[in-house]
Amino acid sequence: MDTLPAFYEPIDVMHIAAWQESPEGIEVIALSSRKSAVCPQCHCRSHNKHSRYVRMLRDLPVSGKPVILVLQANKWFCLHRFCPMRVFTERFEGISSSQRNTDRLQLLLQELAFSMSAKAAERCSKAIGVPTSHDTFLYLIRATPEVPIEDCPFRFYR
Ligand SMILES: [Zn+2]
Repeated sequence: MDTLPAFYEPIDVMHIAAWQESPEGIEVIALSSRKSAVCPQCHCRSHNKHSRYVRMLRDLPVSGKPVILVLQANKWFCLHRFCPMRVFTERFEGISSSQRNTDRLQLLLQELAFSMSAKAAERCSKAIGVPTSHDTFLYLIRATPEVPIEDCPFRFYR
């Protein structure tokens, strides 16, 4: 297996273990390299691993090919005696806990959603290697919080 192309930037504290290219795209296998993690509930650091789990995420395309990030992350015990969370999953900068896309891909899709019609964004996303339906673009627009009026560049034109 070759080394990962230099233009693919790993996210947060990940070790890229392997990658493979197929006609469908590029699969990047990444492992968490953390020795400890912070409990999201009580913010206490834990060094006690519970288990591992695998997440599959879409990432930014490389040379027009879709990239699937197969992330092997850890679950940790929270040992704080009053914390209600006994086991927690580690969090990564650049990966939201509930998304199926990395944050950087999500930002790209939001940019497409607000730059053109949903049907045009669907065609464009397919061409650049992140095929996304027009319904998803409409959802992205509806799910994006409104910009406060103070930050709106058109505030003088109301
Ligand atoms: Zn805790």
